[in-house]
Amino acid sequence: MDILPFTKPDIDEETIASVIGVLRSGWLTTGPKCHEFESALSLRAGGRPVRVANSATAALEFALRIAGIKSGDEVITTSLSWVATSNVILTVGATPVFVDIDPVTRLIDLNKVEAAITERTRAIIPVDLAGFPVDRDLLYTLAQRYELRVVEDAAQAQGANWKGREIGSFGDLVVFSFHPNKNMTTGEGGCLVMNTEQEARQFEKLRLQGITRCADGTYDCDILGGKANLTDIAAAIGLGQLKSLDCFNLRRRELARQYFVQLTGLPLELPPKDFAQSNWHMFQVLLPNELAERRGELIKHLRDHGIAVGVHYPAIHQTSLYRKLRLSITPLPRTENVAARILTLPLFPAMHEDDIRRVASALGRVIESMCLNGTEA
Ligand SMILES: *Cc1c(COP(=O)(O)O)cnc(C)c1O
Repeated sequence: MDILPFTKPDIDEETIASVIGVLRSGWLTTGPKCHEFESALSLRAGGRPVRVANSATAALEFALRIAGIKSGDEVITTSLSWVATSNVILTVGATPVFVDIDPVTRLIDLNKVEAAITERTRAIIPVDLAGFPVDRDLLYTLAQRYELRVVEDAAQAQGANWKGREIGSFGDLVVFSFHPNKNMTTGEGGCLVMNTEQEARQFEKLRLQGITRCADGTYDCDILGGKANLTDIAAAIGLGQLKSLDCFNLRRRELARQYFVQLTGLPLELPPKDFAQSNWHMFQVLLPNELAERRGELIKHLRDHGIAVGVHYPAIHQTSLYRKLRLSITPLPRTENVAARILTLPLFPAMHEDDIRRVASALGRVIESMCLNGTEA
């Protein structure tokens, strides 16, 4: 049986041709296509400096380094995210401090941030889960009041906006991911939007061995950098994808609307109906509490109906590594409840409205049979 995946990238023929062009050009690593891609991204970010890397994880780490976050510092974030959000805090030697989520938006509850701030707090990493933007007004009011740097984990929020202003075109440091599951891709890749050319220079060093090239053909190495530069092959994909981003997001929005129609009557908690700001990176529902412990079983049944779904995400603080770290964690009951019940339904631009109906009817049948039969479905 054909399985409907929960996401699938959409690469047009023009993009494929431009990748072939790069392969034929003789220049595969960081070069003209990366520069062109950075310029195009910067244009969307209102002219702010943008630099690309081979992952958003690298861009997040470099953002923390640029913000001067180091050992002994605390960084406030959410536990309902991809582990990369928090792993990079550990990578730079700092301590993640998790704040519980708002159960409706499923985003960090900014009203709870103040209570988590200590004299060691240096930064906050909000996450626009599913492409639904964190309240930027509240966020930057808090950041200003407590002199915190903000590293926006907007990995999922390409093309989303806050009150009409595109994410990335304002604020402090903003990270986007171009992983194949995101709304636009480079195969693998990511970028950081910064405030100054000086920060951009620092990013360039961090992503390539800490070097600065000199006019006489030599170079200097003055800080310890890594190896996270993007290839021109990837940048060519990104340039093609960026052209389609608004189209993709419009299509996602239409499909999300269809989900709201098709899922009415099912015992699910639906996401906020945001058709203005979100880029609908994911359509996530919460299962009824009774089915939370049987989510794995439900996922298997859906697969038998030809539908693949995802879990985004298990709570970070409940993974083995974070348990072992014994961070002094305040209780996160809402995060734990949502993490146990959340399910990502298929949503990608090439989906048809029939697919939405298929998902909704399979979900309805599976939930009904599981509720009726206890363990059998
Ligand atoms: C995808 C993602 C990342 C990491 O992106 P990569 O490009 O895979 O490194 C980080 N944070 C969030 C919220 C993500 O969804």
